[in-house]
Amino acid sequence: MDLNNLKSDPIVVVGGGFGGLSTVQALLAQSDGTPIILIDQSPRFLFKPLLYELLSGELELWEVAPKYSALASELGFVFLHGCVVEIDEIEQKLITLSGIEIIYSQLVISTGVTTDFSLLENLQDYACGFSNLNDFRIIKKLINKINNSSECTNPIVIAGAGPTGVELACKLSDLVNNRVEICLIDKGKEILSQSKSFNREKAINAIANRNIKIYLEHYIASLNKNFIELSTVEIERNNSLKINYSGLVWTAGLKPCSLLLADHFSDTNKKIKVNKFLQINENQNIFCVGDMIFCENYPFPSSAQVAMQQGFLTAQNIVSLREGNKLKSFQFEDLGEMLSLGIGNASITGYGVTLAGPLAFKIRHLAYLMRMPGFSQSLKSLGSRLFSQQ
Ligand SMILES: Cc1cc2nc3c(=O)[nH]c(=O)nc-3n(C[C@H](O)[C@H](O)[C@H](O)COP(=O)(O)OP(=O)(O)OC[C@H]3O[C@@H](n4cnc5c(N)ncnc54)[C@H](O)[C@@H]3O)c2cc1C
Repeated sequence: MDLNNLKSDPIVVVGGGFGGLSTVQALLAQSDGTPIILIDQSPRFLFKPLLYELLSGELELWEVAPKYSALASELGFVFLHGCVVEIDEIEQKLITLSGIEIIYSQLVISTGVTTDFSLLENLQDYACGFSNLNDFRIIKKLINKINNSSECTNPIVIAGAGPTGVELACKLSDLVNNRVEICLIDKGKEILSQSKSFNREKAINAIANRNIKIYLEHYIASLNKNFIELSTVEIERNNSLKINYSGLVWTAGLKPCSLLLADHFSDTNKKIKVNKFLQINENQNIFCVGDMIFCENYPFPSSAQVAMQQGFLTAQNIVSLREGNKLKSFQFEDLGEMLSLGIGNASITGYGVTLAGPLAFKIRHLAYLMRMPGFSQSLKSLGSRLFSQQ
């Protein structure tokens, strides 16, 4: 497609994660023929909740991370592979790293968050996060190293006992066959402090059945190539200890992927402030969705569920804005929570059920397949799973 020769100024979506891709899909469903361009710095959409199953080999790369080019031809949008570095809100134009300029009629920003390595000195040198395919490759290599060498016996340390830390700890423990200890560290008094109580209870059982040690009310005070130094949160009972580790995964802090425009509208946490219609107040043609935003009077959590609901609403609001109709405010509908708890095991609260074990694992997988963008993608994956079980 010739970007300089479009019939009208396109609606541009920057960032094709859960928020951005849901917006594109919902816009296409209500299309008035306006071109829709999705720009992402990665060639693949990543279904992050299934990263654990990619790590364990329960799912394959094409199932968890389909290429945008394939989704674009199936769904009917234009995909541009590039990193947006600047947005000029006066000229309604954005610029990519390779110098491409695109004029937009409405813009949706959904560039998500990334691991915040600034929280501790040396962190970037010795840790990885668990939120993209690069992190996946680093951790996969560590698992192979542990499983193929009798000398690699030091613990794997995971910082942060929220859903990502806990789910990863269970999967990793299974993948190394409990051969090395997994140390799960959190500043808080309990694991999964924001999760549903049924899921927390099942996670505690899953952890107890594995070689996982939890350090609550502890934090990583310093680290070098060989050692991690842990300290207690309460200074009175300070009890620092050193762990000789084989790998560190940091799930204890994220920061928004910043764009130049976004910087003027961000708070101290660098999140972008939006109004209840998910617009940047001063720029009614710019909407923001997903993990990178906050709304002062209408708080909501950061999750794929929220990002998708925001994407659907944003598409509706863009159509209303273009037709001169009233916009709708965002209201989060909590559909529940599903946790992956080791190979072939999961826990579900919500969707009308509380369930744990292998059946919950299958239901979780099916529920996520139904959410996978692109019908033929879901069907292909479903088919391959059904046949592989015969
Ligand atoms: C391991 C893991 C498991 C999770 N499990 C669950 C779960 O079970 N349930 C749940 O609800 N949530 C879950 N989440 C959270 C969920 O994935 C996020 O809340 C969701 O992805 C947020 O969507 P988003 O659109 O804001 O950002 P993302 O999905 O992160 O997408 C952002 C996109 O923007 C692109 N991008 C960034 N900067 C630029 C740029 N400058 N130019 C172009 N493109 C750019 C990125 O490449 C990316 O594709 C999980 C997260 C992780 C990491």
